Amino acid sequence: MGEHPVVSTTGGKLSAEDIAANFDDLHLPLNAEQVSVEASRCLFCHDAPCVTACPTSIDIPKFIRQIATGNLTGSARTILSANIMGGTCARACPTEILCESKCVLNTGEHDPIEIGALQRHAVDHLIARNDPHPFTRAKPSGKNIAVIGAGPAGLACAHALAVHGHEVEIFEAREKPGGLNEYGLAAYKMVDDFAAREVDFILGVGGITLHYGEALGRDVAFTDLQARFDAVFMGIGLGAPRKMGIDGEHLDGVMNALQFIENIRQTDDPAQIYPGENVVIIGGGNTAIDAAVQAKRLGARSVTLVYRRGGTQMGATEWEQDLAAVNGVTLTHWAKPVRLTGKGTVNVVEFERTALKDGALEGTGEHFTFLADRVYAAIGQELYDQGLANITCEHGKIMVDEAGQTSLPGVFAGGDCIASGEDLTVQAVEDGKNAAAGIDTFLRGNNG
Ligand SMILES: Cc1cc2nc3c(=O)[nH]c(=O)nc-3n(C[C@H](O)[C@H](O)[C@H](O)COP(=O)(O)OP(=O)(O)OC[C@H]3O[C@@H](n4cnc5c(N)ncnc54)[C@H](O)[C@@H]3O)c2cc1C
Ligand code: SF4
Repeated sequence: MGEHPVVSTTGGKLSAEDIAANFDDLHLPLNAEQVSVEASRCLFCHDAPCVTACPTSIDIPKFIRQIATGNLTGSARTILSANIMGGTCARACPTEILCESKCVLNTGEHDPIEIGALQRHAVDHLIARNDPHPFTRAKPSGKNIAVIGAGPAGLACAHALAVHGHEVEIFEAREKPGGLNEYGLAAYKMVDDFAAREVDFILGVGGITLHYGEALGRDVAFTDLQARFDAVFMGIGLGAPRKMGIDGEHLDGVMNALQFIENIRQTDDPAQIYPGENVVIIGGGNTAIDAAVQAKRLGARSVTLVYRRGGTQMGATEWEQDLAAVNGVTLTHWAKPVRLTGKGTVNVVEFERTALKDGALEGTGEHFTFLADRVYAAIGQELYDQGLANITCEHGKIMVDEAGQTSLPGVFAGGDCIASGEDLTVQAVEDGKNAAAGIDTFLRGNNG
C-alpha cells in the first residue's frame, strides 16, 4: 500500500505546500495493477476467518472474487449490503486488528491481503459512478421511525430501515451529518470531503429526512418523539469530553483534543491552524494519537504524548503507535498530569510518575515537568445524559438487549452510546444495522 511520506522530524515551520501534502491521503488508493495483483492472491477460503473478524461480517472472499473477475459494481454491492459505510470503514478500520489480522496468508513470511484497500477500490468505484442507488426500498410499511444522531450508527440504522420500506426522520444536533466521520476521524484518513459524499450516497436510497440543529433534550423532547413515531433509535455517540480535573485546566492553550481535531477537519486550509510549538497530549487512545500526529504534521516543533500506563495498555493499536513514532511524536508512559501552570497561557505541565501496586495504578511521588504552549486532553468522552428520559444506563452506556432495544419498548440504541464491541465506526454501523432489524421485527410484530 502506498504510504504518504511523513514530515521531517526536525521541527521548524512548514510551508503551506508541506502542510497540504501532510494532510493528503495517508494511504494512497491502489492502482488497477496493484488491485489485480492483490485480488489474485486471495485463496477464497471456505469459512474465511477474515469474515468473522469483521464486525459487519462482509463476505470478503466473495467481494474479492468479484473484483478479480472484473465485476466491481457487484463487489461494491456485496460490501455495502453488509456495511453501508464500507467506504469510510475501508479508510478508517484498524484492519491490522480486524479482518487482515485473521487472513490465513498472515504468517509472518507473507503479508495478509490488503482487504481494506480492495474494499475502498470497489466502493469508490460505485460511489463515483453516480448510478441510481444500488438498493431499492420495499413497499411502504406505513411506519415511521425517529433516529437521534446522524453519525455512523444513526445513518446505518436509517438506511436499513428505509430499505425495509419505513419512513425515517433523523434529528441531528449539529449542522452537518456524519458524526465523528465528519468531525473526528483524522483529516488524512478522510480526504476530498468523503464523509459528506458518503452521507449523500446513503440518503440517495430515499425515505430519510434529516433535520439539522435539532438536539434531543434541547430542541426535541423524548416524549414528543415517542408520541409521534412508531419507534425511536438513539445513535447519539459519546458527546461529552472528560475533564482532567487538575489545576490550570482553564488556562489558554489547554484544549480538548477532539476540538483541535475538529478544527483541522472543518477548515479549508489546515495551514491556518496553529498547533503549538511545544505540544503535550494527554491520553493513550485513537484520539490522542490522531491529535499528536496532526499537530506534528502541522509543524509543531515537539509533540509529547503522555499516557498513565504502559504501551501495551494503550487503546491505540501498535500500528497507530508506530505512526506516531515515525511522525516524530515522543511517547512517554507511566505518568499522569498533576498541574498546569502559566501566566494566562499554559507554559508548564507537571507530571507524576505512576506504577502498578497490587494491580492498582498509583502515583510514585516522583515529579517531572514539560514545557508546553499547547496541551490537548484526550482522555475519553462520556454519554450526555440530557434528554435520555428514564432509559437504563450502566457504566456510562445505554443498556440494550440483543436486538438493540433499550429498557423502553420501541426505543433502540447503538454505536458508541452502548457497550457493544470496540468504539469503532465499523461497530457503530453493525449496531445500527442490527437495531434496524430489531425495529423492523418489533414493528411488524405490532402489526399482528
Ligand atoms: C478522534 C477520534 C478518532 C477516531 N478514529 C477512528 C478510526 O480511525 N477508525 C475507527 O473505526 N473509529 C475511529 N473512531 C471511533 C468512531 O469515530 C466512533 O466509534 C463512531 O463515530 C461512533 O459512531 P456513533 O454513530 O455511535 O457516534 P458519533 O459518530 O459520535 O455520532 C453521534 C451523532 O449524534 C449526534 N448527537 C449527539 N447527541 C445528540 C442529541 N442529543 N440530539 C441529536 N443529535 C445528537 C452527534 O452530533 C453526532 O452527529 C474515532 C473516534 C474519535 C473520537
Ligand atoms: S469493514 Fe473494516 S473490518 Fe470489515 S472487512 Fe472492511 S476493512 Fe475489514
